[in-house]
Amino acid sequence: MKVILLRFGELYLKGNNRNVFESMLINNIKEKLQGEEYRFQKTFGRYVICDYKPNREVDIVEKLKKVFGLYSISIAEEVDATKEDIENFIKNIKIKTENFKVYVKRADKNFPISSMDFAKELGGIILENNTNKNVELYQPQTLISVDIRLNGKAYIFDEIIKCQGGLPLGSAGKALLLLSGGIDSPVAGYLMAKRGLKIEALHFHSYPYTSEQAKEKVLTLAKKLCDYVDEVKLHIVSFTKVQEEIHIRCRNEFMITIMRRIMMRIAQKICQNNELGAIVTGESLGQVASQTMQSMTVTGGVVDNLPIFRPCIAMDKEDIMEIANKIDTYQTSILPYEDCCTVFLPKNPVIKPTIEKCLKEESYLNIDELVDQAMQTEEIVVLKRD
Ligand code: ATP
Ligand code: MG
Repeated sequence: MKVILLRFGELYLKGNNRNVFESMLINNIKEKLQGEEYRFQKTFGRYVICDYKPNREVDIVEKLKKVFGLYSISIAEEVDATKEDIENFIKNIKIKTENFKVYVKRADKNFPISSMDFAKELGGIILENNTNKNVELYQPQTLISVDIRLNGKAYIFDEIIKCQGGLPLGSAGKALLLLSGGIDSPVAGYLMAKRGLKIEALHFHSYPYTSEQAKEKVLTLAKKLCDYVDEVKLHIVSFTKVQEEIHIRCRNEFMITIMRRIMMRIAQKICQNNELGAIVTGESLGQVASQTMQSMTVTGGVVDNLPIFRPCIAMDKEDIMEIANKIDTYQTSILPYEDCCTVFLPKNPVIKPTIEKCLKEESYLNIDELVDQAMQTEEIVVLKRD
């Protein structure tokens, strides 16, 4: 019988929490496979999906590849773990490449023959039925794996499909992603979700300075993230008034720094209102003037009691772009609609702002009132995976 074999990794490290993690992972798998017909089995360090409609196999694997906490998948033949049953299946294998190797692993040490000896024997059977093929022990083009498990079954497969890895979604809590229309922030959201964080998102727009399309673009990005995180509650806040006020009252080179500090204050409020335990941004050290150590000190400085996660901090743009391509956000991110940060952009933004100078600029503003006004413009859109 053909089955889909699932392997998970880091769950092993979690000691007493293991059960909680595991039930989250299983729930997330079931969530992802909603609408599919299948049977789910939990067996000795593996999960097995069986009794699915044969033509659904590829789709099921595609869906499972987006579940955090799964490390790899194999489409395998499940047979009874007897020498005869395994040999019978192996007999009919057709090797498509020039060479191959058989690898046997026994979780069941009572199996009557050692792994090495059995691998040799099975290799011999394959050779008999595949004349012109060779055994290649070091770099085989085809690796036939026989995994003999303690549930009385053996699994035979020739491919290991790599998955996301990471930790089950939700196992680390829930955070607020500052989502612009750019390349970096969707990647940041994905990377933190991979470490177990559910994601809500916050987007600032400056309508009418920014267009309706700029907002649409962010909705599209949030929707694309849903492939991995199932659901994104997107908070959309107007930043127009804040920007106008800063533009009128503060020194131009401080525009971005003060904007960022106000964004963070609003983000913190939204975290408090929605029980979110961290703020996530797409910042990368040195990428632009507002992403220096000093800038991050003063922007992070307005946030109390919440960590700010910046998973792209040490990454080169190329590496970020590679992930953006992988999660299919890149083509949307490069659409040329302006972000609120590009409106009123100063010619020479400060690179090393100090807290004293920020406070001085902010003394020309009524920060609490601006934050409250912005909060009143909050719209919420909930996006879900199709
Ligand atoms: P990105 O590609 O994510 O837009 P960026 O390289 O353009 O990043 P900045 O524009 O300096 O960098 O923004 C840094 C971070 O601030 C972003 O990654 C995002 O987390 C947050 N941010 C910027 N603009 C907005 C916005 N309009 N709404 C919400 N968050 C924003
Ligand atoms: Mg940006």
